[in-house]
Amino acid sequence: MQRIATDRVIIVGAGLGALSAALRLAPHPVVLISPERLGEGASSAWAQGGVAAAMAAADTPEAHAADTIRAGAGTVDAGVAHRVTAAAPGHIESLTRLGAPFDRDASGGYVLSREAAHSFARVVRVKGDQAGAEIMRALVAEVRRAASVQVLEGAMATGLQVAGGTVTGVVVESADPAGSEPVFIAAPAILLAGGGSAGLYALTTNPPRIRGQVIGLAARAGAAIADAEFVQFHPTAIDAGEDPAPLATEALRGEGAILINRHGRRFMAEIHPDAELAPRDIVARAIHAEWRQGNRPMLDTRAALGASVLTRFPSVAAACARAGIDPVTEPIPVAAAAHYHMGGIATDAGGRASLGNLWVCGEAASTGLHGANRLASNGLLEALVYAETCAEGIAATLPAPAPAAPVVPEFRPGGVPVDSEAIARLRQVMTADVGLIRDEKGLRGALATIAALEARHGDSASFRNMTATATLIAAAALMREESRGAHFRSDFPRAADAARRSRLTLAEAMALRALPEKEPT
Ligand SMILES: Cc1cc2nc3c(=O)[nH]c(=O)nc-3n(C[C@H](O)[C@H](O)[C@H](O)COP(=O)(O)OP(=O)(O)OC[C@H]3O[C@@H](n4cnc5c(N)ncnc54)[C@H](O)[C@@H]3O)c2cc1C
Repeated sequence: MQRIATDRVIIVGAGLGALSAALRLAPHPVVLISPERLGEGASSAWAQGGVAAAMAAADTPEAHAADTIRAGAGTVDAGVAHRVTAAAPGHIESLTRLGAPFDRDASGGYVLSREAAHSFARVVRVKGDQAGAEIMRALVAEVRRAASVQVLEGAMATGLQVAGGTVTGVVVESADPAGSEPVFIAAPAILLAGGGSAGLYALTTNPPRIRGQVIGLAARAGAAIADAEFVQFHPTAIDAGEDPAPLATEALRGEGAILINRHGRRFMAEIHPDAELAPRDIVARAIHAEWRQGNRPMLDTRAALGASVLTRFPSVAAACARAGIDPVTEPIPVAAAAHYHMGGIATDAGGRASLGNLWVCGEAASTGLHGANRLASNGLLEALVYAETCAEGIAATLPAPAPAAPVVPEFRPGGVPVDSEAIARLRQVMTADVGLIRDEKGLRGALATIAALEARHGDSASFRNMTATATLIAAAALMREESRGAHFRSDFPRAADAARRSRLTLAEAMALRALPEKEPT
């Protein structure tokens, strides 16, 4: 393996967390590993709703924290929730200064959307559903201008090297599907900002790159993983056969769009007092139940938005147009799709993982903010806040900033390409047996399938990173014998008396793959 050393901080990923951290670290030199062209391939650029922050005069960070804690179903770290929500308005102001064109009202105030389980209209947005794309556009431009940031495009991380419990560097390969021989880069500090895992599911809203690989590579290096079982399913992915499934943002329901089935029956009103704006897990399970009964759930924007849906929600309108749906005259078929991983690499309040020299921010991290169910639009917020926290923590360990040579890995042919059939099988089993409704039999079957796929296709480090994360999600789901937030066990449909977070190493999760089924009691 080619080995190189750099004085730059390595940032793995190129979404909101990575770009924000790179800018916050300036003038410390960093190298940003971006598998795609900068700005592409990240969930961040696909975010529609916006960023949650208490910007309204009557709203407060305390109310935002209380909603976050309530949505998380007993497993949110209250200290983290208070810290993140208190920092939120400041981050909106700095994004505004960077050029994010947030929607404004006639008096110059931020236009705020109402989303599920928020007690206020609190989501700062851009042109209806363009928040992620526009925030990323502003950050990409700033990163391109920053002399301290080297962007290594077309590369992806596949492993970490660890000595005495401390990470010494990152193994990278060409991000081309054919892969390359691995190259090891030793670095003074490593920040993982490689996104979540929802693309490990066959029915997902996440971009194809977001398949738990960065969580998996940290787990394979020995990092502790927290709350892996908590995967959020978005109730209203547009169900028209596209992979990934385009999203119909929750803000549509905030504007009054309703959920009906093919018989025209509005089904949420009888399930929850907040009807369409009930917590995401409740709406997602209701949609799933209608879908399984062949009742074709649909989002009806006609009365609430009429023709304005086309101009006010351009991403949704474009997805409908691709599928031949006219939302002005017909309801939009929807399905619940894997959307957000609340779990991830366990971090402390400073964004540090359980291994030395390793920080994590964004969806790859499990900071304790989301608990069992993320409050809508707290994902981008967490990435912003922890990017800053990690940057401060990393900077404190570095010598005074000095210019550093660029990192130039040489990607020689000789990689092990990932088998696309194996990925498809992995994604199918995750949706079928580790999805919205889980039970012991399905989870054990899934663990056995994941183990078999890994045994056959594990020569690819990239695939092993995916199976590591899939194993952790299924094992943690098997261990949690209760239903809580987004995690629903049909064999344990109630919440246990005591709420707790979960914490697991990959070795512990792998041990579960080998255990026989429990005797019935
Ligand atoms: C359709 C959609 C809509 C959403 N809407 C909202 C919303 O309105 N509000 C909200 O708060 N949240 C929303 N979310 C969630 C939010 O977008 C994400 O949680 C957030 O963007 C995560 O940021 P991140 O920087 O951690 O990861 P990402 O933005 O996903 O970036 C991860 C980066 O890591 C890179 N990467 C992956 N694997 C590797 C590897 N092996 N090596 C190197 N790099 C790698 C990727 O290419 C990418 O650049 C939405 C998500 C989706 C999918």
